[in-house]
Amino acid sequence: MKLLEDRIKSEGTVLPGNILKVDRFLNHQIDPAFMDQLGAEFAKLFKNDHITRILTVESSGIAPAVFAGLHLNVPVVFARKHKSLTHNSNTYAAEVYSYTKQVTNHISIDKRFISAADNVLIIDDFLANGQAVAGLLDIINAAEAKIGGVGIVIEKSFQDGHRLITDKGIKLESLARIKSLDNNQVTFIE
Ligand code: 5GP
Repeated sequence: MKLLEDRIKSEGTVLPGNILKVDRFLNHQIDPAFMDQLGAEFAKLFKNDHITRILTVESSGIAPAVFAGLHLNVPVVFARKHKSLTHNSNTYAAEVYSYTKQVTNHISIDKRFISAADNVLIIDDFLANGQAVAGLLDIINAAEAKIGGVGIVIEKSFQDGHRLITDKGIKLESLARIKSLDNNQVTFIE
């Protein structure tokens, strides 16, 4: 998506460890009009996939997921990263190693918000090694729901996540695909 690539070029910064910082429009400050455009693009890409529900992980996946849900007219559920007193017994859970924070998060979704009748679209801000998506797939499997596809805002194609998802035969659509972050330069896949 040209618009997204331009935005990454002009506002993104590369940090050590192959981390791309996009906190001017996605990961801290959020540009709602731009998120709306990303949501419309996801809806276009998945409009024929009979999606009934979108799953993401808090917090950075929520903004693009909500706008995709708005355009696909389906509910959006975010996995919580922390156990809370009101949210502990009736949940599906998975462990997710965070690439950026280098900690393992326990993620969970209340059983009321996913069922075997669902065909789920996973949306996330970044795809690196695919751990967040793998955790959500564990939850989808536990709920005996179907996976309709994975939509990613920014894919770091030089890491393992892309292959992990497509090897399972799952439809993957990434709005921007980064070939390399070498020398602090963002290079996209043509
Ligand atoms: P994965 O689970 O695919 O290894 O990593 C995906 C998660 O890690 C995303 O949900 C995102 O929060 C975070 N992440 C991975 N790489 C980057 C990056 O380069 N920049 C930012 N801001 N977050 C990243």
